[in-house]
Amino acid sequence: MVKIGVLALQGAVREHVKCLTTDETEIITVKRVEQLEELDGLVIPGGESTTMRRLIDKYDFFEPLKDFAKSGKPVFGTCAGAILMAKKIVGQEQGHLEVIDMTVERNAFGRQRESFEAELMVTGVGEDVTAVFIRAPLIKEVGENVEILSKYNEEIVVAREGQFLACSFHPELTDDHRFHHYFIEMVKQAKNNKVVI
Ligand code: GLN
Repeated sequence: MVKIGVLALQGAVREHVKCLTTDETEIITVKRVEQLEELDGLVIPGGESTTMRRLIDKYDFFEPLKDFAKSGKPVFGTCAGAILMAKKIVGQEQGHLEVIDMTVERNAFGRQRESFEAELMVTGVGEDVTAVFIRAPLIKEVGENVEILSKYNEEIVVAREGQFLACSFHPELTDDHRFHHYFIEMVKQAKNNKVVI
């Protein structure tokens, strides 16, 4: 059994809970800092990264989230969650949690393509993953320790650095739970100390 939290300050929380629920998981919606202590892994959902950052600061989550990441426990960010995890954001002086060595560009598809779906190959997940993009960011650059797990039109949309996983789109908005199961495996392995960090 692993315990996974979904940061519940804003965004698509319920959908993540649904995708993460299996016989082997206990899922918790995280609204208070103390709840982080009991978790084996954490999901940061999509929403609006600047709003979410404001709420993170307002409820004193910033340092506890950084500490959680440093502890070696897996973290999975989707869309705005991925933006929060990036070391660098195009056009901004600073990132937020800065845990993955990557540069993201917010709203990178422009107004013409505010939201759309595509079928993508995601390494370790599947060859036909439906990707729902909603005002999505793109991953423009990654450091040498970052694995690229998926691209859309030559641009990076899924990246992993050790126990950190970031995805531009919204896997929680489909009935296909393979992406979340990939993350659950990361959490199980980290808990059994099989991951070398
Ligand atoms: N455009 C949003 C941002 O910059 C992310 C959108 C999303 O999470 N669906 O934070």
